[in-house]
Amino acid sequence: MTNKKDVIIIGGGASGLMAAISSLECGKKVTLIEKNEKAGKKIYITGKGRCNVTNNKDISEFFDHIMKNKEFLYSALYTFDNKRLLELLHSNGLKTKVERGDRVFPVSDKASDVTKTLLNIINTDKNSEILYNT
Ligand SMILES: Cc1cc2nc3c(=O)[nH]c(=O)nc-3n(C[C@H](O)[C@H](O)[C@H](O)COP(=O)(O)OP(=O)(O)OC[C@H]3O[C@@H](n4cnc5c(N)ncnc54)[C@H](O)[C@@H]3O)c2cc1C
Repeated sequence: MTNKKDVIIIGGGASGLMAAISSLECGKKVTLIEKNEKAGKKIYITGKGRCNVTNNKDISEFFDHIMKNKEFLYSALYTFDNKRLLELLHSNGLKTKVERGDRVFPVSDKASDVTKTLLNIINTDKNSEILYNT
């Protein structure tokens, strides 16, 4: 990869990983900077270690559970909704299952598999680099 970057993302949490993936999908050269020795640390503890990835209900129902300023999220959730997230994960090898309340988890019950899938998408793209301990 050349030194020229289009996008620099600070923080390799769930948000930073998804920002990197979206930028790469747009053909950008991306550098992700993470201060820890690994990315997605918080994802490992989500859903009691299983990561409740999303919910399988229609996206319009999500707004019933947002208390304040739900309009703020319309654009984000309709641009990249739960179905598109699941398509991204499935097409990159993560199998998911739907449980009570339409909650979606990895079949493996391992949150680490979600992190691995997101990282794998980034690491296998020649336009990406991740700098750790930075
Ligand atoms: C106990 C618990 C359970 C949860 N369960 C779920 C769940 O099942 N499903 C769900 O969807 N959500 C769940 N959440 C919420 C979810 O974890 C968060 O919404 C999500 O992880 C937030 O991601 P983020 O990228 O915004 O922030 P973070 O995960 O906090 O990521 C920020 C990243 O930026 C890095 N960073 C910060 N400052 C710098 C800097 N100056 N330079 C470089 N790097 C920096 C940090 O090291 C970190 O890696 C849960 C949260 C908790 C606490």
